[in-house]
Amino acid sequence: MDKQKFKDFEDFVPTISDSENEVPDLDGSEDETLHPETSTKTKSKKKKANNSNPNEDIHEDLNPSFRFDLDGAEVSSGFEGWNFDGDKKLETNPDVDLDGIIRRKGGLIQMAGTGDSESDGSEKESESEGELALDGFGMGADEKSSKCQSATHEGDATDSEGDESGVDEDSGVESDKQTEGQEALMTAGNGSVSDIEDDSEEAKAEFYALEEESTEAKKTVHTNFNSLSLSRPVLKGLGALNYVKPSPIQSATIPIALLGKDIIAGAVTGSGKTAAYMIPIIERLLYKPAQIASTRVIVLTPTRELAIQVSDVGAKLAKFVNGISFGLAVGGLNLRQQEQTLRSRPDIVIATPGRLIDHIRNSASFNVDSVEILVIDEADRMLEEGFQDELNEIMSLIPSKRQTLLFSATMNSKINQLISLSLKKPVKIMIDPPRQAAAKLTQEFVRVRKRDELKPALLFHLIRKLDDLSQKRVVVFVARKEVAHKLRIILGLLGMKVAELHGSLSQEQRLQAVNGFKSLQVPVLICTDLASRGLDIPKIEFVINYDMPKTYDIYLHRVGRTARAGREGRSISFVGESSQDRNVVKNAIKSAEENKKQDTVVGRMVDWAKVEEINKLTTNKDDVIAEILEEEKQEKEILRAEMEVRKGENMLKHKDEISARPRRTWFQTEGEKKNSKVIQALSKGKKTVNSKKRKRIEATEDRSRSYKKTQKDRGSDQQRTYAKQKAKKEMKKKKQARK
Ligand code: AMP
Repeated sequence: MDKQKFKDFEDFVPTISDSENEVPDLDGSEDETLHPETSTKTKSKKKKANNSNPNEDIHEDLNPSFRFDLDGAEVSSGFEGWNFDGDKKLETNPDVDLDGIIRRKGGLIQMAGTGDSESDGSEKESESEGELALDGFGMGADEKSSKCQSATHEGDATDSEGDESGVDEDSGVESDKQTEGQEALMTAGNGSVSDIEDDSEEAKAEFYALEEESTEAKKTVHTNFNSLSLSRPVLKGLGALNYVKPSPIQSATIPIALLGKDIIAGAVTGSGKTAAYMIPIIERLLYKPAQIASTRVIVLTPTRELAIQVSDVGAKLAKFVNGISFGLAVGGLNLRQQEQTLRSRPDIVIATPGRLIDHIRNSASFNVDSVEILVIDEADRMLEEGFQDELNEIMSLIPSKRQTLLFSATMNSKINQLISLSLKKPVKIMIDPPRQAAAKLTQEFVRVRKRDELKPALLFHLIRKLDDLSQKRVVVFVARKEVAHKLRIILGLLGMKVAELHGSLSQEQRLQAVNGFKSLQVPVLICTDLASRGLDIPKIEFVINYDMPKTYDIYLHRVGRTARAGREGRSISFVGESSQDRNVVKNAIKSAEENKKQDTVVGRMVDWAKVEEINKLTTNKDDVIAEILEEEKQEKEILRAEMEVRKGENMLKHKDEISARPRRTWFQTEGEKKNSKVIQALSKGKKTVNSKKRKRIEATEDRSRSYKKTQKDRGSDQQRTYAKQKAKKEMKKKKQARK
């Protein structure tokens, strides 16, 4: 490999994974297929755009032999990227065509204020330069850091108080899964590695393997995969992926995992953690082939998307290994199809906890009796987000004699939480993520002041300005899913097609959004933190914080999506007046100053008159927005009704077959699950628990625990079902004989 062509990548922020390899060819023919409607315009304008934007490095970015260094591991563009299709043969439920509705209401036809896009390059250039004020705009940066800025706005220092409560209310009351997730992330983010030190020294000594083992593992740096004594087919798989050098987490964990030891590893998505556990797993399966088909490895992930991603990484790594099979057991995808796959007892099953339990209980020929390795990916998040009951249940079902590998972005979980996962003297390996933004990231801040209602128009204005040819990927972070949905409609009415990604979408919709964004069919993705976490999304040029994150750590996670692989990137954050928002700015300035990169943190001035103009277009459309939402709701209801009818018809058609099936049993009802989450929140003293919820908990605490099936129960259940079926058949036979 031509080392000269490699680019160093010292500023890797291993927060969220990237796949640099899936970047479509923007230089050539693909433009036309991706944007047929804009292709001619695109060609004529490309040169101009390239000149006008200092961040433009499209040609260089797409150098096919480009490599970057992942703090030791080189990531190349030589493979075609992870497949996000999941199971392509899925039956998909029809979804409401929101873009269709928006189009019917006059949106998505022509971009609002098209005159704007006609502005020539020179104007754009001068405007973008002129708009940047090196002042950190007086967001209360501490004395030392504000000195490094060239100017401040009047009165900024004094009006910092007062709004804090408003913001807390804004962003704190939400009690749905998303907020819980954000809180989890927040708690996770707030805690550095040192947070685990709460456990006593004795407890740690008893629980973990000797500290020397961890130190040794980190100290022995493997500069290539050959020194890890891996087998040929695995090395071949790594070669096909252009993995040359193990990443730090891979170098430290693979040798220990190969010894069969339990591991607790601190590694974030983007650090190469998937391969860190997949490589030793494949090696171990190779070394000890199974006599009969059985599931020997379970990988648990908190989300379906991550599970699909992991399964794809595994399949690519095992490409040259004969006979290793993978299976998915994740919610949201076709149950029967998964059942069929699991019937063949794949060697490695990647699962979300709830669906795994469902399959263990209800899929006749699937079982976990032969599991030898259990991986828990994003373990902290699972423990935080109310998966505790499911994890306990899974622990009770799989053999206790096994290897357990636990990977987590942060390690806030205390030993008493980890004990339930029955690890055996785990070796603890923590790789600290850097607490600073990437070197080539320009962090811009726009002071919104009290003009919150202008934010949608501001967003539209900025996206157009940054990327009026829709050739770059822009991720917009919002605090709530409703905001994402509404923004999609507003921007749609202004002529801009954007995708949304959050927890309220169906699995198909989520995959569609991610795939559309990856292929640049829809270059703008509006998402919530939770939905976007763990996703391997390729090259992103701009990150916009439409709503400021709660903490600097979440901020780093978000902006870490851009300026990766030594590239340039830009983040723009809309800053309100709350002290929470200001704190994030303060931290960004402080960190830039500490790293002598003051000039990368800048305030962006905005032509508010223009934004006001755009806003007028949207406020005039308030009625249309309401109509769209209503129409969407009605269409959803119609689809639901149609589905019910289809279900009814199927029931009639296949009545006998359906009634002969054993009844599915559930581990927890939705209500029980909610309560369990609240109990956990209460025990941690979270403030999201309101009195209504508390009453619900008190009521359920009195009730007996939900009945959990043990393996023995499962066996006798099945026997009972078979006995019933047999008795039925005999009755039928007797009846026929009598006739
Ligand atoms: P992960 O943290 O597992 O999500 O991986 C993040 C990204 O790093 C993925 O796109 C992988 O393709 C890439 N990657 C992981 N390990 C290596 C390696 N040793 N060399 C090059 N690229 C890697």
